[in-house]
Amino acid sequence: MAEIINGKAVALKIKGEVAERTKALINEKRVSPKLVVVLVGDDPASKTYVRNKELGCAEVGILSKTVRLPSNTTEKELIEQIRALNNARDVHGILLQLPLPKGVNEVKVLNEILPEKDVDGLHPVNMGKLIKGEADGFTPCTPQGIIELILSTGQEISGKEAVVIGRSNIVGKPIALLLLQHNATVTVCHSKTKGLETVSRRGEILVAAIGRAEAIKGEMVKEGAIVIDVGINRVNGKLKGDVEYDSAAERASYITPVPGGVGPMTIAMLLRNTIKAAELLASK
Ligand code: NDP
Repeated sequence: MAEIINGKAVALKIKGEVAERTKALINEKRVSPKLVVVLVGDDPASKTYVRNKELGCAEVGILSKTVRLPSNTTEKELIEQIRALNNARDVHGILLQLPLPKGVNEVKVLNEILPEKDVDGLHPVNMGKLIKGEADGFTPCTPQGIIELILSTGQEISGKEAVVIGRSNIVGKPIALLLLQHNATVTVCHSKTKGLETVSRRGEILVAAIGRAEAIKGEMVKEGAIVIDVGINRVNGKLKGDVEYDSAAERASYITPVPGGVGPMTIAMLLRNTIKAAELLASK
């Protein structure tokens, strides 16, 4: 039976480190790190995420502000808002809460965020730095959190066969690149992959980021694998991962639960990206 990877506990440890770095930056450089979240419209899930980000910042001593804009905000107005935040010297991190209302070009607006303040790591400059392995870039939060969870098991990543299921820009592609940076041999699967069952069974590390409740069954998991379930799916009011937990836990050596696995890590890594942005900007 697999050991459960406790995302809450790992996130708490990372938050403790961020709190120390925040204190040091304030004491040594008189710089108070600040994150601004831009929230457009009133999507209930987005509101909850933004509230959790505000609470996370408060926990570690990072200042936070949410700019709330009505759902009829135009692309031009949103870009003007982003540019104002780019120019604000007291703002170190900018996060545009997605999704944006229809009619607003998400990519165009995201690309306006100054790469140095892009704590979500979605700007092409930061994506490029991830590919090149340049350490001063910003990597998307969820994939960074996944690496921390794997490392928390004490197992080596280097030399392992890793299978990532999903190829989104926010999870699948960046986690594949990070695993590669850690010297895993990486296979990326998607909806057109043939024989997914066979490929997924090769994974000594298996990352499921599909967005389909319990799509990965126990028989698709290699004996002794480390299984990271990124999925958040609401089924009859309950949260379900992309992995069928019980059958997968019988074969895996380590597994993340849903909730309480990857979820808590995403905010912890956002806080770490924000303190990193503040430290880099303060050192210029
Ligand atoms: P996307 O919908 O952007 O991407 C899903 C990926 O899964 C696509 O690459 C798609 O392939 C692939 N896919 C879909 N169906 C299959 C299938 N049957 N077999 C193999 N591959 C398949 O999702 P995200 O990456 O944004 O999110 C994935 C999940 O992770 C969601 O449940 C989301 O809620 C959750 N999530 C959780 C976070 C957290 O903090 N815990 C943060 C971000 C996401 P193709 O490219 O061919 O379409």
